[in-house]
Order: sequence, then structure tokens, then C-alpha cells
Amino acid sequence: MIQNYYRASDAADAIALKKAHSQAVFLAGGTQINRGAPYGKTPEIVIDIHDALSKTIVKEGVEIIIGAMATLQEVVDSELIPSALKEAAAFIPTRSIRNQASIGGNIGAACPDSYIIPTLIALSATLGTAYGRMQVEEYLEQGNKELIYDICLPEQPDSIVAVKESRSHIAPPVVSAAVSLRRNDNKSLRACVTLGCVASRTLRLREVEQGLESGTLKFREDMEKAIGASIKPKSDILGSVGYKTYINSVVVADAIVRCLEELS
Ligand SMILES: Cc1cc2nc3c(=O)[nH]c(=O)nc-3n(C[C@H](O)[C@H](O)[C@H](O)COP(=O)(O)OP(=O)(O)OC[C@H]3O[C@@H](n4cnc5c(N)ncnc54)[C@H](O)[C@@H]3O)c2cc1C
Repeated sequence: MIQNYYRASDAADAIALKKAHSQAVFLAGGTQINRGAPYGKTPEIVIDIHDALSKTIVKEGVEIIIGAMATLQEVVDSELIPSALKEAAAFIPTRSIRNQASIGGNIGAACPDSYIIPTLIALSATLGTAYGRMQVEEYLEQGNKELIYDICLPEQPDSIVAVKESRSHIAPPVVSAAVSLRRNDNKSLRACVTLGCVASRTLRLREVEQGLESGTLKFREDMEKAIGASIKPKSDILGSVGYKTYINSVVVADAIVRCLEELS
């Protein structure tokens, strides 16, 4: 149960409060914090960041800057947001949750089945923090502790597809992935294949990416095999290892094929 509540007046105040109360968590939309078991314990100390961070979405040159407090519904509704990220945000079930949940909170929560994180990685998004800008993967590797001010989307890839698979719209997913392809100036390909739901955090499938870039992975069956060989999901109430390996291989190979078709 929440015992101590602090309201930060700005980002510096939020960081100072966090230094003073190391066990505290940032309270954004509260949808993850208050989710309870089996998703975690409700924190005892919270630092409300509603007044501390921006929620605006603006275009600066080719970049799009999303304030960390923007809600997932605002991401869905914004004309500035690339369609793959809108789609990923719309995967989060029900408008009432999307109206409350913030994009910064989704990254800060770092859930292995996040719909947002794979798409941000595929978009090469960077995060603004007190320690400067960092890639989303870097932020997660460092333990997702720092306050995120904003999310910056650079120039969009040439093609990008976000996918999810779950038993129903509201059920937790067994697949949450994104694929993007960029053409370099010399026409060579740069691939990003990133998956949640198959490990304790979102993964990049580097070998699959290299296969696509070098042209050794051309056929759908080979893509499925390569994806299946790169992941080791755990069996749980959502499915067996065999099922999760199969469904991820098929759905992600499908996303790669769609991306390649968009490019040609
Ligand atoms: C019924 C239900 C279904 C859900 N389904 C999904 C789903 O399918 N996929 C999914 O990804 N999520 C899902 N969620 C989880 C949650 O809604 C999202 O992860 C949401 O985006 C979290 O945002 P929030 O603003 O509510 O975060 P909060 O709950 O306020 O915070 C979550 C965590 O992020 C940290 N945090 C918050 N803001 C920042 C910031 N600016 N910088 C750094 N750290 C920060 C906090 O310290 C805390 O640890 C679901 C939740 C519910 C209740």
C-alpha cells in the first residue's frame, strides 16, 4: 500500500526526491504500479510526476519529440506519430487504460511483454534523461532507473511493422514484436528485429538481422527457422515452449515479409 506520497514540481525536484527516497517509484499514470499481483507489489513511496514532465508531442525538423507523460491514447490520436507506434499503443487493451497510462511509464516499467518497447527500438528512438540521450536498449540494460523526460523519434525507417498475438484483445500477449528495415545510401539494408514475450526483457535477434542484411535469409521458411533457433521462451499459463516458439517464428517472419514487400 502507498504510505508516502510526494508531488514533484519539476524534473529536478523529481530527481532530488528520488535521491532522498531511493525506494520510491515515479507515479505517472499508475496503471502498472497499482496493477498488484501477479504483476508486482504496490510501492510504499511514490513521487507523482504529473506536474514535472511534459506530455506534448511536437515535430522538430525530422524528429518527433514525445513528452514522457503523453498518454498512450494521445500517442494513438496524434497525427505526428508513425503508424507502427500508433498501432503498438492501440494494442494496449481498453481506452480507459490508454487514457491513463503514459508512454514514459511503459518504458520505465520495462515489462517483457511491452507493446511499446519493441516498436521504439525498431524506430531507433532515444530517451532524454538527466544523464543525456540514450538508446532504449541502453536504458533497459542500465536497469531502467532514470527518469525519462521525453522520447525522440528520428527519421522514420523505410518500412516498419509492429505485431502482437494474444488469445483475446484483453489477454496478455504471447507475441509482441517489431521489425524495421532501412536502406543505407549505398542501397545496403539495415534490419532491426526485436521481440518481447520470449525472455525477461525485450531482445534484438542479431543473427536474423545479419541474415536479412547479408541476403542469406531470403525465404520465409528459413526466416521462421532462424527466429525459432534464436529464442528460448518459457512455458507458462499462456503456452508451452513449443507453442511460443512456433507462434513467434510465424508471426515475426510474417512481419519481416511485410516489411520486405513495403520496401520493394
Ligand atoms: C488491465 C491492464 C492491462 C495492461 N496491459 C498491458 C499490455 O498489454 N502491455 C503493456 O505494455 N502494458 C500493459 N499494462 C501496463 C501499463 O498499463 C503500461 O505499462 C503503462 O504504459 C504504464 O504507464 P503508467 O503511466 O501507468 O506507469 P506507472 O504505473 O505510473 O509507472 C510504471 C513504472 O514506470 C516508472 N516510470 C513512470 N514514469 C516514468 C518516467 N517518466 N521515467 C522513468 N520511469 C518512469 C515508475 O517508476 C514505475 O516503476 C496493463 C495494465 C493494466 C492495468
